[in-house]
Amino acid sequence: MPNSYDPNNIFARILRGELPCKKVYEDAHVLAFEDIRPLMPVHALVIPKGAYLDMSDFSARASADEIVALTRAVGEVARLTGVAASGYRVIVNNGADGHQEVSHLHLHVLGGRPIGRMVGAPKQ
Ligand code: 5GP
Repeated sequence: MPNSYDPNNIFARILRGELPCKKVYEDAHVLAFEDIRPLMPVHALVIPKGAYLDMSDFSARASADEIVALTRAVGEVARLTGVAASGYRVIVNNGADGHQEVSHLHLHVLGGRPIGRMVGAPKQ
């Protein structure tokens, strides 16, 4: 994971229309689409349209409108994918220890069956 924004990362290319995605939701600030390797019956990715590396970058630099839009989009994606009532998990992997693989902020929305406890015990 680079520690600066790579404009050719896969999600930037999806945003530019250079790569396809299965769109779930879109507004002026946000795009949401299905994860290509779903880990749950529902696995959507919610991303800001702006070039933000991770949550630290987004929380420091995004406008209030962008922050509101991303938050509201998560709720909208949960509703559109049918997990709002049954429950779901939102995960944001950040940086090396967070195991972030794509260098554009993305929120995973996971649901469709019980997920279990939040994280496993760390390996010693
Ligand atoms: P991370 O580990 O960075 O939090 O998650 C990256 C996610 O992006 C993974 O769940 C992976 O399956 C997904 N992903 C990687 N490449 C693509 C792609 O080209 N299209 C879509 N829709 N998802 C992708």
